[in-house]
Amino acid sequence: MPVTCSASECGSRAILKRPKTGDALCRECFFAAFELEVHHTVSRGRIFQRGQKVAVGASGGKDSTVLAHVLKVLNQRYDYGLDLVLLSIDEGITGYRDDSLETVKRNSAQYDLPLQILSYQDLYGWTMDRVVTSVGRKGNCTFCGVFRRQALERGAALIQADLIVTGHNADDIAETVLMNLLRGDIARLERCADLAADFAQSGAVPRAKPLKYAYEKEIVMYAYFKKLDYFSTECIYSPNAYRGFARSFLKDLERVRPRSIIDIIHSGEHLRVKAQLRDRLPVLDRCSRCGHLSSQGVCKACVLVEGLNRGLPKLGIGKKASLLLQSDVRRMDGKGCGNDSRGIVCGSGKDEGIVCGSGKDEGIVCGSGDRTSGCGNESELTVCGKADRECLPSEDVGMKGRVDVVSVGDLERGISACGDCDHLGSCNGSGG
Ligand code: SF4
Repeated sequence: MPVTCSASECGSRAILKRPKTGDALCRECFFAAFELEVHHTVSRGRIFQRGQKVAVGASGGKDSTVLAHVLKVLNQRYDYGLDLVLLSIDEGITGYRDDSLETVKRNSAQYDLPLQILSYQDLYGWTMDRVVTSVGRKGNCTFCGVFRRQALERGAALIQADLIVTGHNADDIAETVLMNLLRGDIARLERCADLAADFAQSGAVPRAKPLKYAYEKEIVMYAYFKKLDYFSTECIYSPNAYRGFARSFLKDLERVRPRSIIDIIHSGEHLRVKAQLRDRLPVLDRCSRCGHLSSQGVCKACVLVEGLNRGLPKLGIGKKASLLLQSDVRRMDGKGCGNDSRGIVCGSGKDEGIVCGSGKDEGIVCGSGDRTSGCGNESELTVCGKADRECLPSEDVGMKGRVDVVSVGDLERGISACGDCDHLGSCNGSGG
């Protein structure tokens, strides 16, 4: 016997059971309920103001396609007064992003919304295809996530948007809460379930997630029954094992108790960091190098690009390595190295850093001829001034034990060499 739609006074035949509530609904009542919930999310959260230009992060996937469609509908239905623009980031992933961008271009025409595309190649000089060639398939998503976050910010600034909205759904947010909890990432844990982030102190473009309470399954149903044009292939570089575990765990929980997703989000919303810990949390500010949003002196994107450009991509991954590279990037901005540095590049001969020219260090790259891959001796990484990079080889500077992790590109970009020994930065001219 056909089931009747449970919405009051409908009486039509139900065609689906809502994953979130278990209600049996007809197609039209499901659309109405879904759209009304998104409207409640944005109106209760007061994320829009009339007259705002809103950049909709659009990847061509189901979430961002549904977001663009629903916002277009709600903007007209409730007269939000928003100027909506699609903003896409081209990561440079052949066979994935090139195809999904074609979907976004069609969406732009279908919804009559302007589209702005920015590419990693233009912003960072690297495509993800090249990043993966350099870093491998482990850790590649760290680069991609950091670059995308900043790229959205830069794109929004370019089109003078007042707000960025992204298609993060309830499942994404619950997974993120779980991951941050499991990793003990206190700084992210407190804010990852927020509906909006305003970054007021740093002046960065605020962000919001209007689909925060929309279940992934319902987004798929909405896209399917609305016959939206979206791209459903997974990224070819998507190992992201840790999120995968959190996702499977969440799916198991959802099977037993569908409310688990919302309950985890509610838990995340109410978690508060102890006052004594709060002082130790990083404060969002501006990168001293590129001027974009950062919780460190030099932002993670600059650190990662620096590592890639130097042929040391893994040095930007992981907290310790990132800090080391941060200190080095700062030094390259003119602060000099000194003898006691733990930095990556130093010619002092006394460093405990990762890269040192002393010939005695347990460094990864050394110009001494004792430990580099170029000289045929042991090296933990495949980066060497002689073999893999365009650099100043140690024989050119005539100094045994000097660091040769200085690319010609670095010098062309104006990073000065020591007057006495031709090495990077001011190494006190102490020789080595
Ligand atoms: Fe980028 Fe990783 Fe997502 Fe692929 S799966 S688009 S590499 S973050």
